[in-house]
Amino acid sequence: STRAAQVLESVGLPSSGETIPGVFDGTWGGSGEIIETTCPATGEVIGRVQTATVDEVRIAIAKSAEAARAVRAMPGPKRGDVIRQIRVALADKVGELGDLISLEMGKIKSEGKGEVQEFIDICDHGVGLSRSVAGRVLPSERPDHVIYEVPNPLGVVGILSAFNFPVAVYGWNFAIALATGNSTIWKPSPTTPLCAIAVTQIVQKVLEANGLPGAAAALVTGDVEVGKELVASPEIPLVSFTGSERVGKEVGKNVMDRFGKTILELGGNNAVIVDADADLSLALQGVLFAAVGTAGQRCTSTRRLLLHKSIAKEFLDRLLPFYDSATKAQTLAMGDPLNPATLIGPLHSETSVRNYEKTLADVTSRGGEILTKRSGRMAAPETLPEATGGHWVWPTVVRPKLDDPCWQEEVFAPILYVAEFETLDEAIKINNAVPQGLSSSLFTRSLQNMGKWLGPEGSDCGIVNVNVGTSGAEIGAAFGGNKSTGWGRESGGDAWKQYVRWSAATVNYGNKLPLAQGVSFGP
Ligand code: NAD
Repeated sequence: STRAAQVLESVGLPSSGETIPGVFDGTWGGSGEIIETTCPATGEVIGRVQTATVDEVRIAIAKSAEAARAVRAMPGPKRGDVIRQIRVALADKVGELGDLISLEMGKIKSEGKGEVQEFIDICDHGVGLSRSVAGRVLPSERPDHVIYEVPNPLGVVGILSAFNFPVAVYGWNFAIALATGNSTIWKPSPTTPLCAIAVTQIVQKVLEANGLPGAAAALVTGDVEVGKELVASPEIPLVSFTGSERVGKEVGKNVMDRFGKTILELGGNNAVIVDADADLSLALQGVLFAAVGTAGQRCTSTRRLLLHKSIAKEFLDRLLPFYDSATKAQTLAMGDPLNPATLIGPLHSETSVRNYEKTLADVTSRGGEILTKRSGRMAAPETLPEATGGHWVWPTVVRPKLDDPCWQEEVFAPILYVAEFETLDEAIKINNAVPQGLSSSLFTRSLQNMGKWLGPEGSDCGIVNVNVGTSGAEIGAAFGGNKSTGWGRESGGDAWKQYVRWSAATVNYGNKLPLAQGVSFGP
């Protein structure tokens, strides 16, 4: 369609159906299986990408390892300047890349652009880091001795990413990896290869203009076989994996098998607690954005809504009308993700729709009650006349039985489960009673409640918000979750400390060799 062609051409990708090379190791190539990438809103094929063979993955890893030596030979602040130039190049294409994300992933225009903005923001952080990555100098108990803690680059960082953040997750990892002196090799989701190719083309230009090998940002598209090859490679000391708990568990074990390092960013099962004293208007906005925004396809999307008994009816009376009029422009505005007025787009894939449908069928068969007027698959909105398919569903609110197994699992779709509680202690217990530990929010006006929520008896998640929804983190703090979410941290804060190898270096500048702990040895 012209809609797709305009977006593809704006980022320099072909729109005429020709096969696009999906491997970059300094030169573009790929002779593996051809994957078709489709627009989730319309169902049309928007690109054909030739993925990597296993041999091509091995070559790309070797090239990236070679490039790592050039990266670490460049002084940190010079690398920072390269990151700054990448930031400028991304900012120049922020709208176009954002639209490509909307076209290929299906999220709405402002969120597509927001994702590129996140890459820009993390570049700023990377520029700062490039001048401030710091070890420590520590006192030694031995005379004329000193101890240093020294960070050095690791080598190649492998980045395996999920479909739902096809650009930002790479950005978080790439900027920090480069700032700390590493090269990267990226395997994006098999359903968002165009976003990866467009981003890599931008990064490549800047790297090469600064005398760095393009393979410092290698790209291998493909699915499970390509991912497994990266996971197994002893040449990749750190694998940063973002995806489901199921695949993350396998990746974690396989990397451990060769004693590599991992950063695991896996599924969430995020709850919002609205307490009796909450500002309900604020809570309503927070819940709506996090529950139906991105059509429920953020790792931080709100899945569980816990309402204090005293406000539960009023809150639902205000929340449900938004769901029940979702296709009307003045409310949740479902439609073409590329239309700036749209607030909710499609699910990403047919698999997502099937998971959504199966979940609703299972929960209702076990006595769960659907609270929204509509649920299930829906036709593509009328505003998309070119749609021949697409993955459209009604955002849905459900009241499952309190002991239903659905409470324990992440379903990557706009399904919100509701339950009521009487005391904050009870609500926190429910919040923590799931395997995952990514994001959580408490809406309250009480300082005491907030203290408890943030303390040792509070939320056990990696993200613990107050009067802010569960989704929409900034890059300043380290991002990630606990328990089956994988304990990984990315982005800001101290996350960079995982992208280096640390040495403890004791230096003797005297002429005697005393031993620590008063140990004596020898004559
Ligand atoms: P997924 O687990 O299906 O796929 C993730 C990646 O793993 C893809 O690139 C895939 O090709 C690759 N892969 C599949 N099998 C593999 C194997 N055996 N070895 C190596 N790689 C393999 O996830 P998805 O459906 O693309 O993404 C949705 C999931 O990602 C959700 O669970 C969501 O919560 C999670 N997610 C988490 C975060 C976070 O920061 N915690 C962020 C975004 C998404």
